[in-house]
Amino acid sequence: MNIALIAHDSKKELMVQFCIAYCGVMSRHNLCSTGTTGKLIAEATGLNIKRFLSGSQGGDQQIASLIACNEIDLLLFFRDPLTSKSLEPTEMNLLRLCDVHNIPMATNMATAEALIHCLERGDLDWRIIVNQGY
Ligand code: PGA
Repeated sequence: MNIALIAHDSKKELMVQFCIAYCGVMSRHNLCSTGTTGKLIAEATGLNIKRFLSGSQGGDQQIASLIACNEIDLLLFFRDPLTSKSLEPTEMNLLRLCDVHNIPMATNMATAEALIHCLERGDLDWRIIVNQGY
């Protein structure tokens, strides 16, 4: 599975803690992220992460284009709902594209944990079938 990870500045520590907690399951998948988020996760966990540009440089748009191409199976996007950044068009577009392509996404820790447990159990394996074009 291809998992994309993005965290706003105030949520980066939470994302790092999340990745430490679920390092085992995450290490069995292909991970990608925006620049700073990925750097912090990699430093804390040693996970192998393909890092795109920083969000402010277009990294979230790079991930959005992968979602549009159906190359992301799960998005964990820890947004800060209290800043205007979370309402920016590029951020809203990420969420919109997940809905367009029926891609599971979590924008908070509680949903992310639920999805990670689904991933562990194989409940998201239908994404593999979708990607193989069956
Ligand atoms: P970053 O980007 O991981 O490079 O900080 C995420 C964001 O859009 O804030």
